Amino acid sequence: MADTESMKTQARAVVIGGGVTGCSILYHLAKMGWTDSVLLERRELTSGSSWHAAGNLFVLTSPNNVSALQKYTFELYPKLAEESGQDCGFFAPGGLNLARTEDQYTALKMARSRGKRLGVEAEFISFEEAREHAPLLNTDPLHAVMYEPM
Ligand SMILES: Cc1cc2nc3c(=O)[nH]c(=O)nc-3n(C[C@H](O)[C@H](O)[C@H](O)COP(=O)(O)OP(=O)(O)OC[C@H]3O[C@@H](n4cnc5c(N)ncnc54)[C@H](O)[C@@H]3O)c2cc1C
Repeated sequence: MADTESMKTQARAVVIGGGVTGCSILYHLAKMGWTDSVLLERRELTSGSSWHAAGNLFVLTSPNNVSALQKYTFELYPKLAEESGQDCGFFAPGGLNLARTEDQYTALKMARSRGKRLGVEAEFISFEEAREHAPLLNTDPLHAVMYEPM
């Protein structure tokens, strides 16, 4: 009862939903100095879609603003571990983009150009190098492989 009486009834910001979106909003509000904020979760933190996510993060995607957001996220996760002292299990093995046809190769070249504008690295690598990254990869039907470190 005493707890309820002392419970706050107002806050500068009330975030509803403790999935990755709500938690991220609360985190960034706090970073901006909005410490008088509260997050309301009806069940358990991250018990919604966020619980199911495989946790894959790929940066070179479309549209460009999503790529920029993904890049920001990629750079944020290692800092979270530093800030909180808790390892959030983030690791970055990089990604391989596979082209089986000339058209797909052209599409990857366009993606790489977009990446350059956004500061996202990507490079074409040999099939041998690709197999070093992914030993089970069958490169026989492939036309080209692009490696994305993020
Ligand atoms: C099987 C699966 C695999 C996925 N894999 C990936 C992946 O590899 N990479 C990737 O980037 N994305 C992936 N996703 C997508 C990703 O999980 C979602 O985009 C993300 O989790 C959405 O987060 P959210 O915070 O918006 O929603 P949620 O995580 O669903 O959070 C919403 C929260 O709000 C709460 N809530 C709702 N209504 C109220 C209310 N009225 N009051 C209080 N609380 C409320 C819910 O209980 C819930 O906890 C995957 C999704 C699924 C289902």
